[in-house]
Amino acid sequence: MRKNIRKQLWQAIFAVLVLGLMTSAATAENKETDMSWNKLTPEEERVIAHKGTERAFTGEYWNHKEDGTYVCRRCDNPLFHSGAKFNSGTGWPSFDDEIDGAVKRLPDGDGMRTEIVCASCDGHLGHVFMNEGFTSKNTRHCVNSISLNFIPEEHKAAAARKTQKAIFAGGCFWGVEHYFAIEPGVISTTVGYTGGHKDNPTYKEVCYTDTGHAEAIEVVFDPDKTSFEKLARLFFETHDPTQVDRQGPDIGTQYRSAVFYIDDEQKAVTEKLISALEDKGYKVATKVEKASRFWDAEDYHQDYYAKTGREPYCHVKINRF
Ligand SMILES: [Zn+2]
Repeated sequence: MRKNIRKQLWQAIFAVLVLGLMTSAATAENKETDMSWNKLTPEEERVIAHKGTERAFTGEYWNHKEDGTYVCRRCDNPLFHSGAKFNSGTGWPSFDDEIDGAVKRLPDGDGMRTEIVCASCDGHLGHVFMNEGFTSKNTRHCVNSISLNFIPEEHKAAAARKTQKAIFAGGCFWGVEHYFAIEPGVISTTVGYTGGHKDNPTYKEVCYTDTGHAEAIEVVFDPDKTSFEKLARLFFETHDPTQVDRQGPDIGTQYRSAVFYIDDEQKAVTEKLISALEDKGYKVATKVEKASRFWDAEDYHQDYYAKTGREPYCHVKINRF
């Protein structure tokens, strides 16, 4: 009897442990798929995601002396002010203070040093060393240049105005891009592929094989000048959201109508607009899919109509709301 109770107790402890592990794995996974992060080069990925170290005296900022703010290269979180930077002679940017709450300290895998990561995205920055006597704060954040971006003082106001992204698929991406590229508040547009399972897809693969991807457009916009809702309305009015897996002459799931939402707010706005259209009698076929990795299309597809001076054959603007 007692043995049974003990067994149950162990099972309960085990269950709690497994649950804890699953929760932390889920959190880590969320961080890995944050769509607002900047795309990294393989070298940035090696240092920031895989805790690598750049060679001393090779980085962009070890001897950099301008006034401004150093931000996380992956998520743009402000980390260090230039006022905290000092010359340590080590060949890595050194700071004796961090911006409050911006940097997290963790025991390093080597059991001796203290690792520092960005508190917002957990990207690897470097290490922190204490009591070396460099400055009165007795603290040296030893940071890889490649984990940082520098925002000069005069650009700060512009940088504070963070940009946002939206991803839409509405048939041939040339036509969709045509309308978004000229929309006020839109900073940039990129055509590409998303929503499928094939890494690094090519145009041919998306057209002729089953990649699951849709031809899509990634819009970067200034939330002070426009909004996701305004752009989503434009999306619904520049393609036909009632067509299933096609848009005019273009047929196939790669031409499906879809909004790839980046956060819950975008999802809610999209669903609200779809029900508004349904109330007006439209049988909306638009899929509401969670955004996954966006693969840029080949260069010759970018700004197609602007480059060729032609007009879209597949997309016209119609007031629907
Ligand atoms: Zn970060």
